[in-house]
This record gives sequence, structure tokens and C-alpha cells, in this order.
Amino acid sequence: MAFGHRYTGLIERYRDRLPVHDDTRIISLGEGNTPLIRLNNIPRQMGPDVELYVKFEGLNPTGSFKDRGMTMAVTKAVEEGSKAIICASTGNTSAAAAAYAARAGITAFVVIPDGKIAMGKLAQAMMHGSVVIQIEGNFDDGMRLVKQVAAEAPVTLVNSVNPYRLQGQKTAAFEIVEELGRAPDYHCLPVGNAGNITAHWIGYCELSAVSGEHVTEACTFCKGHCRFAGGGNAGQRPKMVGYQASGSAPFLRGAMVDQPDTVATAIRIGHPQSWDVAWKVQNESGGWFDECTDEEILVAQKLLAEQEGVFCEPASAASVAGALRDIRNGRIPEGSSIVCTLTGHGLKDPDTAIAQASRAPIKVAAEITAVTRAILDNMD
Ligand SMILES: *Cc1c(COP(=O)(O)O)cnc(C)c1O
Repeated sequence: MAFGHRYTGLIERYRDRLPVHDDTRIISLGEGNTPLIRLNNIPRQMGPDVELYVKFEGLNPTGSFKDRGMTMAVTKAVEEGSKAIICASTGNTSAAAAAYAARAGITAFVVIPDGKIAMGKLAQAMMHGSVVIQIEGNFDDGMRLVKQVAAEAPVTLVNSVNPYRLQGQKTAAFEIVEELGRAPDYHCLPVGNAGNITAHWIGYCELSAVSGEHVTEACTFCKGHCRFAGGGNAGQRPKMVGYQASGSAPFLRGAMVDQPDTVATAIRIGHPQSWDVAWKVQNESGGWFDECTDEEILVAQKLLAEQEGVFCEPASAASVAGALRDIRNGRIPEGSSIVCTLTGHGLKDPDTAIAQASRAPIKVAAEITAVTRAILDNMD
């Protein structure tokens, strides 16, 4: 970036590929531009030689990739004259909606499940001044309700069924291709509603498109909003791999799941909103869906934290849990380049982290011998 140029968010950065006008008022918190971190320690212990990266989306302004979609959705809602937005959420969408609504000076209504919402996410929705409506039901119940409300009341729905959300989220694929100089061979993501895996596919397809052609059926989902960059990387696109939590894995069961359950609350979704389009993504890209148990997810979360210094929330770790398994079993071949999206920050869910941390704090007297002993006893 040239000297003296402040990064002001992904809409400014990718203006020519997003549905905004020259005079559109942009609602931004500087989202996007997240680090692509090459993992060192985990691959070294694994056997097969691979190039493994994590795209740390937890470093967005509200701590998840939802900010990429929300900057677009709220910018367009404001442009269209909306004074309020609404969403159902397992937590991160409500955090992002609350923050971007505060920034825009409009009201956010967020419908969240009663319980099973990570503490950090609830704190964000409350702190940003949104109206938090806790329902006695799960995310899927909330989704059904907000769709009905948005059809009748003057509020804009900002869940990922809002096409602008995926337009914002596709920019993560642009960033990855810019940094690597090409698309990775595999892109692994945790899947809940399957909006994000779809958005990434749209992004990769736009880059690989030859001047203005629709090269993905998934692109029809943009409802005409996307514009193709064209000519970029001559058709090279990754295989898209989606991992679900075993207790919430409709793509594995081949049918909706009515009582989804998992420690990875961000993907505790039994009725994915992007069901049809996500199957197209899988088919077009030659990728697959698979599932991870809660135990595998938590092991991967801890592995990333302890061995790479990267603290993501449980749902995010599903991408790495699944990728590591598929690298070991050869489904992802040796020599591949792989990007795993870490969708949200570990600080979102401190309770789960503390409950599974390897070491509890050591309590000692406030004197030098006790502290020294604690250190010497715990040297590796
Ligand atoms: C929203 C979310 C997901 C799931 O993304 P979808 O687009 O619903 O598939 C995964 N991880 C985190 C942390 C999320 O907030």
C-alpha cells in the first residue's frame, strides 16, 4: 500500500467489484485485510508435507468474518433508507449487526437463542446498544421468525439470505489470491448456514472468470449484484471443503436436523439457509462436506492455541480439525496448498476455553520463594 494511504475497509478496497455507487455512504469499521498465517509447528509434526495457512477472520473489528458481510448489508440498508435492521443469530451476526448499526446510527434488533450463546457475543450485542430478543428456541426458530417479521415490519433482514452479505464476504477470497499469487488447492471452512463457503466460491469464480462470464451457478445467488473481475487467474479455483459439527450436520445427513447440538455454537444450525447453493459449490468445485466431533474440534482449537499462538473460537477450529484429518488420510494429497478459514476469535467464548485449557492457574502466596518454586516446578 502506498505511503499515507489509510486502509478504510473492504468496500473501499474492492469498490469496483461490489454493488456500491460513487456517492454511496460507506458504513465501515475497517473490516477485512486479515492475516493469512502459515502454520509451522502443526504441519511439521504431521507427516505429509503440505503448505497450510489459516485466514484469521477473528481479527475483524467485531471478531468474526460476519463484519465483511455486515459492512455491505448495512451500507445498502442505509442507502435504501432503512432505519432498522434485524437478524437471527447464534451470536456473531448479532455482534456485527449491533456494531455496524451503531456506526450507522440505526437500530439493530437481534434474535438469539436462549442459552447456548457464547458470553463475548452476548456482551457485544448488549454493549453496542442493540435490542436483544432472546427466544425460547434455537437459531433455526429465530431465522423463521425474523423472515416473517422482515416481510411485514419496516426492518431490513441482514442474515446471509441478504445477498449483499455474501458480496462482502467474497472479498476474503480476493485477499487470499492476492497474497498467494494464486488460489489455494483446497479451501476448508466450518459450515453452518453455508453462506460463507458460498461467498468464497463466488469470490474465487469472479477472479477466474474470463471477462464477464458467469462461471458458477452459485453466482446466480448474487441476484445480479456481482460484477466479474475477469481475466484474473485463468480459471484456477480451489476445491471447497466444508466441515460440520457431528451433532449439527445436515449436509452429511442429507436432510435438515431438527435438534442440532454442538459445543461449536456458531455452527449449531440444523436448517442451513444456503442449502441448495452450497451443494452447487461442492459439485462445481469438486470438494466435499465432512463432519467433526466436538472432541476433534476442541482438540484442534487447543492445538492452534498452544502450538501456533492462534486463538480461534470452537466453530472455527472445525476447519482445521477436518483438514488435518483429510491431510493425514490422503484425501488432501501431499504437496497441496490449503487455506483454512478461522471464522471467529477465541475470546468470543471464554467459558469453553477455560473449561478445556491444559493448565489451571497455580495459586501461591505472594512471596518470592513460592513464586520461584512454582516456576521451577513447571519448567519444561
Ligand atoms: C457464522 C459463523 C460460521 C458459519 O458460517 P455460515 O456462513 O453460516 O456457514 C462459522 N463460524 C463462525 C465463528 C461464525 O460466526
